Amino acid sequence: MDMIGFIGLGRMGRPMASNLCRKGFRLVVHDVNRKAVEELESLQARGAANAAQVAAEGDVIVTMLPNSAIVSEVVAGHDGVLDHARPGSLIMDMSTVSPETTDMVAKKAAAKGIRFVDAPVGRLAEHADRGESLFMVGGTPEDFARVKPLLEGMGTTIHHCGPVGSGTRTKLVNNFLAVSLCQMNAEALALSQRFGLNLEKTLEVLHGTTATNGQLKINWPNKVLKGDTTPGFTIDLAHKDLSLIVDSANAARVPMPMAAAAREAFSTARAAGFGGQDFSAMVDALCTIAGIEKPRLKS
Ligand code: NAD
Repeated sequence: MDMIGFIGLGRMGRPMASNLCRKGFRLVVHDVNRKAVEELESLQARGAANAAQVAAEGDVIVTMLPNSAIVSEVVAGHDGVLDHARPGSLIMDMSTVSPETTDMVAKKAAAKGIRFVDAPVGRLAEHADRGESLFMVGGTPEDFARVKPLLEGMGTTIHHCGPVGSGTRTKLVNNFLAVSLCQMNAEALALSQRFGLNLEKTLEVLHGTTATNGQLKINWPNKVLKGDTTPGFTIDLAHKDLSLIVDSANAARVPMPMAAAAREAFSTARAAGFGGQDFSAMVDALCTIAGIEKPRLKS
């Protein structure tokens, strides 16, 4: 059975590594926080003094670290994982980092005959606690097959997104929506509070419409992503509504930066001649302006 190295036992890494221990995987673990290592030792993992030791002993070495700089240092820096990992071993970075970091580390690993997979994690920390995370994996089909049993030990949903780097890039697309929708939720509820609306009723209404991004789930796959931009609701009308919202919010002294930015984006689409199209054609307007091919589903 492969020896699993695990570096980074924080809010996410700790439950992920713990779930692997409970499921019978053999682990050698490291974190700069000695207490985190001790917790894993109580689950029969072997504690290591540094990343080099984990790399030397691990067949698959998982990293779950805070950011690009730390991943670069721990994996590709002096006395890091790449200096000590054996050829044929595999590094799986599960941190959220820049695509440039993933590409750099993968390239340096390949030069040493070490396999590399990027597998950032979706969903919340509570899902990681319960072993119910989602993973976005970039790597060759062979490497994906190698890490799949490990991922199944930590989560319930595993997506092979494409070659190395696809996981990291998918994660950024995902987190753009997850995090900017957080700000939009905040703006919506602040406006609702300022209007003196009933919170429970407002939530009930929002959950019954496409307000909670049903557009991407339901409307878009059946409409713009199939090339149908005939209006249900035009960009012109959506722009009018955004203007009502921004103006009311301004009058009520509620700052709504996302709403203002969206209004200007709709203004830009109208200026580019998309005003009469369905509001889902905002993606066509943006891609046209940016010189990117419009997204269309194959089936
Ligand atoms: P965290 O800060 O709780 O954990 C990071 C761990 O890395 C800490 O235990 C820290 O001591 C350790 N560490 C830092 N530098 C180190 C080094 N040089 N050597 C060894 N260990 C070192 O962060 P987290 O919430 O576990 O997140 C980890 C990654 O996962 C981040 O990239 C984050 O963006 C991503 N992520 C987090 C969540 C979440 O809900 N927290 C969800 C999905 C993805």
